[in-house]
Amino acid sequence: MSCCESKAEEQNTVCPNCKSIGDKVKLKTVESMILDKSKHYDQDFSICLTSDCFIAYFSKSVIIKTDEIKEVIYSKSINPDRILCYCSRTHSKEILDYVDSSGNYSVKDIVKNTSAMNNSNCIVNSPTGKCCSKQINETVKKHLD
Ligand SMILES: [Zn+2]
Repeated sequence: MSCCESKAEEQNTVCPNCKSIGDKVKLKTVESMILDKSKHYDQDFSICLTSDCFIAYFSKSVIIKTDEIKEVIYSKSINPDRILCYCSRTHSKEILDYVDSSGNYSVKDIVKNTSAMNNSNCIVNSPTGKCCSKQINETVKKHLD
């Protein structure tokens, strides 16, 4: 393989279905999410967050569909009371009820006053493998708009 080919491989984080740019996820996260535990991978995956795309994770050669993982990726959920914090199983309703009743909307206040983000272990609990504050922020912002 030439050096140019390996470069192209590294930049391949565009979803093969919807063509949007994916976020890199750790292999540990993918392996924790996948339902078929007999499958083992050794490549880097990205997550597709596009709402109506059927792909959950993708690498250069492998596609993992949304129905092959145990969690619903928050951005793909059509449930109005979707899970926002996977570690604590906190749904959007609990967070938005708190925001509405208290008038507080900072993540700091939300974490202090709801079940969200207690005992975080996002790398294995969240399909994004990252802290849930991102989707909490996004959802609260949308709600207040
Ligand atoms: Zn996609």
